[in-house]
Amino acid sequence: MHNSNRRAHALTALLMAVAVFVTPLTALAQTRIEVPKNKYKITDDIQAGAQASQQVEQQMPILRDEAISAYVEDVGRRLVAAIPSEYQHPEFRYRFRVVDARDINAFALPGGPMYVNRGMIEAARTEGEMAGVMAHEISHVALRHATAQATETQKYQIGSVLGQIAGAVIGGGIGQVIGAGSQIGFGAGALRYSRKYETQSDILGAQIMARAGYNPRDLANMFRTIEQQSGGRGGPEWLSSHPNPGNRYERINQEAALLRVAPGAGRDTQQFASVQSRLRGMPRARSMEEIARGGAQQPQGGGNDGRYPQQQGGRGQVEFPSTRYRAYTGGNNLFRISVPENWREFGGDGSSVTYAPEGAYNQTQNGGDFTHGVMVGIANARSNDLNQATNDYINDLLRGNPDLRAQGRAQRANVGGRNGLGVTLAGRSSVTGRNEYVTVYTTQLRDGNLFYAISIAPDTDYRSYQRVFQNIISSIQLAD
Ligand SMILES: [Zn+2]
Repeated sequence: MHNSNRRAHALTALLMAVAVFVTPLTALAQTRIEVPKNKYKITDDIQAGAQASQQVEQQMPILRDEAISAYVEDVGRRLVAAIPSEYQHPEFRYRFRVVDARDINAFALPGGPMYVNRGMIEAARTEGEMAGVMAHEISHVALRHATAQATETQKYQIGSVLGQIAGAVIGGGIGQVIGAGSQIGFGAGALRYSRKYETQSDILGAQIMARAGYNPRDLANMFRTIEQQSGGRGGPEWLSSHPNPGNRYERINQEAALLRVAPGAGRDTQQFASVQSRLRGMPRARSMEEIARGGAQQPQGGGNDGRYPQQQGGRGQVEFPSTRYRAYTGGNNLFRISVPENWREFGGDGSSVTYAPEGAYNQTQNGGDFTHGVMVGIANARSNDLNQATNDYINDLLRGNPDLRAQGRAQRANVGGRNGLGVTLAGRSSVTGRNEYVTVYTTQLRDGNLFYAISIAPDTDYRSYQRVFQNIISSIQLAD
């Protein structure tokens, strides 16, 4: 009895010693991330990413430089190996390409393909800062944020799920390039990650950094570097698709204080410096906008890639709208709309649907574009304020269609019996070479997302279409 008592005592002492040892460590425990709900399969992520990456590589100039590619691929691999096991998906194939564009941007597609702009690498002050952006992007992929966001927001599925995701993701990264040659780029509904997801990627990004041997504070530093380098030019694309959840810099550093940086890897700034000087020695990279105007690759077969009927000044005869109307419902009965009987429904990339006369619509790989008609869809609203949400959406649209300019301020409009806004844009169509008018109508859905209807006609036809557009917009009914 004595003996066992003493043993029990010894055990207690041992436990206490362990407890004392453990407590400061638990106090320092890194933040646990709760993986968001996701109704999609892992293979959906992979397929959506593969589909989108094909498009990206057709439309964006990929830098072909073995030394630089190998280096970026190497940093990427090191980070991927450091993803904590609970967030690893062995089916995902992470790969890293450098895009020969000046803009400070990077984006990752579901399932793993990642693109880092040359401008981003040149802007980073250290390898750690570049790795920070990559770790943040990898975290979005590992946490499956693209499909998780679709799970959360896309109650009203208008088209195919995959197309929707691919379209949204692409919009987030290269809206302006996808918009090239379209009247309205379907990639305009950019995927902007929610603030909750941004925080998650900041935290997991910091954890991956530390595990890979990088200083996680470099992720925080990179956000500052990007802000500084954007020099007030409206801020680079990357910051707008990865909005600051508030106190970003402090939050990352707070997490960094809880992390122990693994020794070894990622401190080879020598190699980073030589990659940077190699990049700086190359001919100046084009901006995304220049790429959008000029096309990513050398034009093949003279610019008209067979998508349009070869005609002077456009794509031929478009029948005048019938005076009889036909009703359509869409978005799982979310909306009802009446359009001239001789118009047809054309599927977009899934985030929108278009009603247009024959000959006015052109199906492209990333959706389609049209010269006359109305496009209806839902955009992810980033604000509860209709004015703000509409502005955000218009800005995305303008990024995708750099030739358009807003004509004055938004006007109040009735859309689906609700308070709405109407904004008219005008500019030269890169498809037809003619001026066109685009009017964007918006209103809010009950879940906070933005419902939009966009009318388009060339300026020569706009007056005669105005009445038709009015009829169409006033026919809209919403059932959310
Ligand atoms: Zn992000």
